[in-house]
Amino acid sequence: MIIVLKPDATQEDIDHIVERLKELGLTPHISKGKERTIIGAIGDESVLQNQPLDILPGVEKVMPILKPYKLVSREFQKENTVIEIDGVRIGGREIQVIAGPCSVETREGLLEVARRVRRAGVKLLRGGAFKPRTSPYSFQGLGEEGLKYLAEAKAETGLLIVTELMDPRDTELVYRYTDIIQIGARNMQNFRLLTEVGKLDKPVLLKRGLSATIKEWLMSAEYIASQGNRRIILCERGIRTFETATRNTLDLSAIPVLKEETHLPVIVDPSHAAGIWNYVPPLSRAAIACGADGLLIEVHHEPEKALCDGSQSLKPDRFEELMRELRKVAEAVGRSL
Ligand code: PEP
Ligand code: MN
Repeated sequence: MIIVLKPDATQEDIDHIVERLKELGLTPHISKGKERTIIGAIGDESVLQNQPLDILPGVEKVMPILKPYKLVSREFQKENTVIEIDGVRIGGREIQVIAGPCSVETREGLLEVARRVRRAGVKLLRGGAFKPRTSPYSFQGLGEEGLKYLAEAKAETGLLIVTELMDPRDTELVYRYTDIIQIGARNMQNFRLLTEVGKLDKPVLLKRGLSATIKEWLMSAEYIASQGNRRIILCERGIRTFETATRNTLDLSAIPVLKEETHLPVIVDPSHAAGIWNYVPPLSRAAIACGADGLLIEVHHEPEKALCDGSQSLKPDRFEELMRELRKVAEAVGRSL
């Protein structure tokens, strides 16, 4: 249920409504928009049948949220969510590119990539310390050692860190080192993990599941939001189709669909979508042209020696060139980079 308040509703009115909702066993979520405040009442709405809320002071109207996802829906919040971390804004006019290796492998290698992507104009560094590998015999990541290298790269370059959390048991550890918590495609419906990150005060980058529909993906985002953390970035990373020419099929249509359905920022990962480095630049340009708020791109200093995803990683030189190309596309669609 959405409770739309009158423009002149007072804080006292809001407190009173919140208290009433809690008495009814509903969870209130407040969204303060430019013009008015909206309160989402989440829970079993049947309790409202004999309890009209529209008579409470400050209430203009009460409407049901028709979508199965509530807090993340456009119905609940009209304005785009802009996530700000130390002055870096995701979801605003400026396009943000998250770049770095698939996995943190060596201290020197990570520092080299960090310096190069920083020079290319990037503000966010990615790198996995815990890797969700298809084979148990593949490199699984350096764990805390990798997180320490990320911290060192941050201290030197000022880049914000994005790294994946795979297991609720590592939450405290990963939280300590990262600025944005990545939830990987394979964990998109790990509801325990989603509930866990929903309680944290750091933004979550939620990747689309390999075979997840947009609705299922938004329901996963709702899991996080329902716990209080509404700073969620959605990341389209390609889905499973019958096509085998690329690792996955990049679903560009997800971008305009999500822009209509949700207020959350949407970014695109062309690296995992394509699986092949030379398809990454055209897909990146298309994603920005299509309305994405950012990109997540794998960059490696020596892709041929990478322990993970070398074939889809750009070398720093090519990445730098891509950033120049993207600036033009961003400008053409009224964005900056
Ligand atoms: C990654 O970002 O390195 C990764 C493992 O991605 P995904 O979860 O999308 O496969
Ligand atoms: Mn990868």
